[in-house]
Amino acid sequence: MSKDQQKHQQRQQKIKDQVDQKIEQAQIEKGLLLVITGNGKGKSTAGFGNVLRATGHGYKACVGQFIKGGWDCGERNLLEQHQVEFAVMSTGFTWETQNRELDTQAAQEVWQRCKQWLSDPSIYLVLLDEITYMLSYDYLDVDEVVAAIANRPAEQSVVVTGRACHRKLIEIADTVSEVKNVKHAFEAGVKARQGIDW
Ligand code: ATP
Ligand code: MG
Repeated sequence: MSKDQQKHQQRQQKIKDQVDQKIEQAQIEKGLLLVITGNGKGKSTAGFGNVLRATGHGYKACVGQFIKGGWDCGERNLLEQHQVEFAVMSTGFTWETQNRELDTQAAQEVWQRCKQWLSDPSIYLVLLDEITYMLSYDYLDVDEVVAAIANRPAEQSVVVTGRACHRKLIEIADTVSEVKNVKHAFEAGVKARQGIDW
């Protein structure tokens, strides 16, 4: 073995030892609260990636979408064929929101379903997609949402997505990732694309 190869092997062995030690130290098993926030693209796709992962292992997953659901959502088309339940707003919140009362009512309807999921131990994963906006706009009560998530079954995981996540959710979360916007095609005038953006 050359000197270079030997050096490389030693370095890799050191990294492996450190990783092995960390793996050994991680002893806690529990459901997690993950928050995916920030201004860059990829939050909802990451959340749905988790739903896919859980579903692929045979676990039950449910999705609450806190945005008007009349659009053609690729993930929903696929996942509903795999017994993933969805609750989406029939009316109300869009990006050009205009009617506070309707929005609140629509958000509450989706939230009531989500609350049931958050108390059902047979559900392994709940995705609360875009729920952060409901808290920013005061359509849902932050303390109620925090309490429902905090008191969920011990083995259940929750993924929260959306920009500007409320600090109370960040505080109780286990894993928080911030997706940073480096650039986005839309800023260069490129249209949103089926299969990429929805
Ligand atoms: P995605 O659903 O693609 O994972 P996201 O959940 O991170 O995106 P949202 O803030 O929920 O982002 O916005 C949804 C839509 O807005 C998507 O079509 C996405 O491509 C687009 N979008 C996301 N980030 C940006 C950005 N920084 N500038 C312009 N458009 C964006
Ligand atoms: Mg999103």
